[in-house]
Amino acid sequence: MLGDAEFPFVANSTAKDSIFFALAVVGASDIRRFSWTVFVLIGAHVVLVLSLLTVYFFGDISSVQGSFEGPGFDVPPAETLFWVWLSLAAGTALGLGVLYRSAAKARYRLRYLSPMHHRTLVALAEVLVLGEEETMTPEEIGQEADDYLYSYSARQKWKFKLALTALTVYPLLRLRPPYPIMSPEKRRKFLERCFIADVSERRLPGPIRRLVQTMFFAGQQLVCIAYYGDERAHSQTGYVKFTRRPGADSALARVKPNRRGVEVRTPRELDTDRVSADVVIVGSGAGGATLAYELASRGREVLVLERGRHVDPSEFTEDER
Ligand SMILES: Cc1cc2nc3c(=O)[nH]c(=O)nc-3n(C[C@H](O)[C@H](O)[C@H](O)COP(=O)(O)OP(=O)(O)OC[C@H]3O[C@@H](n4cnc5c(N)ncnc54)[C@H](O)[C@@H]3O)c2cc1C
Repeated sequence: MLGDAEFPFVANSTAKDSIFFALAVVGASDIRRFSWTVFVLIGAHVVLVLSLLTVYFFGDISSVQGSFEGPGFDVPPAETLFWVWLSLAAGTALGLGVLYRSAAKARYRLRYLSPMHHRTLVALAEVLVLGEEETMTPEEIGQEADDYLYSYSARQKWKFKLALTALTVYPLLRLRPPYPIMSPEKRRKFLERCFIADVSERRLPGPIRRLVQTMFFAGQQLVCIAYYGDERAHSQTGYVKFTRRPGADSALARVKPNRRGVEVRTPRELDTDRVSADVVIVGSGAGGATLAYELASRGREVLVLERGRHVDPSEFTEDER
């Protein structure tokens, strides 16, 4: 079946396929421990696809027929053989990628983040949340962050994914392996040098510095929200839910059940383009809400403009996130 000229290529292919097979066996023997083999196999098949395309565009694919010549075998045209070969290589890379992604999502019960984002976040949590007394593992922080992002409704939350992607690959620009692959010690040093020192000592040009700072802050914020927002960390931070604080019952008893409350109108519900009041406050956050309450209780007519959705006190959960 093989012409003489094919010999060196057959020898190479046998060696290459044996390595692929060995990697697949190692990976399948304990996929949690040897999950890196999946990336090697995907990477190898991507290189294969790129090599095939290079030959297609810049070389001669007619010789592919020689690989399949043999007695009594009708060889299909070179073009057909080429595309079958390319499809098999691309299909293998894609299939492995899809299988890995769904297996990793199922393993960590991820609903919003991809396995890559989750891994980077866990790697960041591992070096940010240090100490003997920590009440959550980095994996639990990663899962908590995923739950938070999944349940959090904001149009721009994809920016967290973007920041985590940048955080994953940023070390490549500094000729280091991707962030989650570094050892914890190197990861900590990289963080101190490239995210903290480079930014605070202004070693990077302005626009790049801001990007680096933003990507690090976004990751750090997610870790903090996930860790400090979880009940397991409350004992460490000293956070006590309002309803469990001394005096909470008597404070709540003073709230009149039939108090007037706020009248909420969404723009769609307004049947006029003019609304007047004594005072207009933009934003119903800590500052705006307190001011509005005090002014209203002194008899002023207050209009509060808020871009977020109205959250009724009955929906308050005492969840600080
Ligand atoms: C995770 C986290 C934990 C924190 N923990 C604490 C703590 O434990 N103790 C503490 O003292 N402080 C804490 N802070 C800080 C505290 O929340 C802020 O200092 C405080 O909320 C600031 O109040 P503010 O009124 O200025 O702004 P905000 O409370 O942020 O309110 C701004 C409001 O304006 C609205 N808004 C913005 N732009 C517009 C617009 N153009 N049109 C209409 N509406 C608009 C926003 O939707 C928002 O509702 C924390 C902050 C965060 C993020």
